[in-house]
Amino acid sequence: MKQTIKSIILVIGLCCWIPAAYAADDHDHDHAHAAGPRGGKLLENSPPHAEFFVEKDRTVSFAFYDEKLKPVAASEQQVTVIAEAKSGRVRIPFEKRKGKLVSKKKLPEGDGYRVVVLLRGKQGAKSENFRFEFHDEVCGGCKRAEYACICEEGEHEHGKEGHKKGDGHDH
Ligand SMILES: [Zn+2]
Repeated sequence: MKQTIKSIILVIGLCCWIPAAYAADDHDHDHAHAAGPRGGKLLENSPPHAEFFVEKDRTVSFAFYDEKLKPVAASEQQVTVIAEAKSGRVRIPFEKRKGKLVSKKKLPEGDGYRVVVLLRGKQGAKSENFRFEFHDEVCGGCKRAEYACICEEGEHEHGKEGHKKGDGHDH
């Protein structure tokens, strides 16, 4: 009897899971979420696009790309990252180094916390804010770092939100 119940639960589970998986797959095809060329998270900011990338030593760097994802040297951009770690909120300043913006501090210990990126494209421009969860592990689906995952459903929702709010950023 217990076995039967288990099988029923399993079947119901699969029925719910399969359509969800297909839906996610379809979505990936219509609206390819651009992957950061260095394996980081490509932000949907006004071009040049910024890629958030966590180095092995947990410093963060931002590289910039044009619409065709060709690297462009950082110029006037200013960025601040706020890591909302369990141990407390940390404000991370950046400096320009070799065409990128590099953090002056490392990300706090642990993961599964929220990261806020405040990005200003030009001096005097209003800053664009991006929020996402920082996860250290590698995603089983796309084999990218979890924070840079391009197959997660939540990522698409975030992307859509960005498009609605985006001013003059039409595709
Ligand atoms: Zn993934």
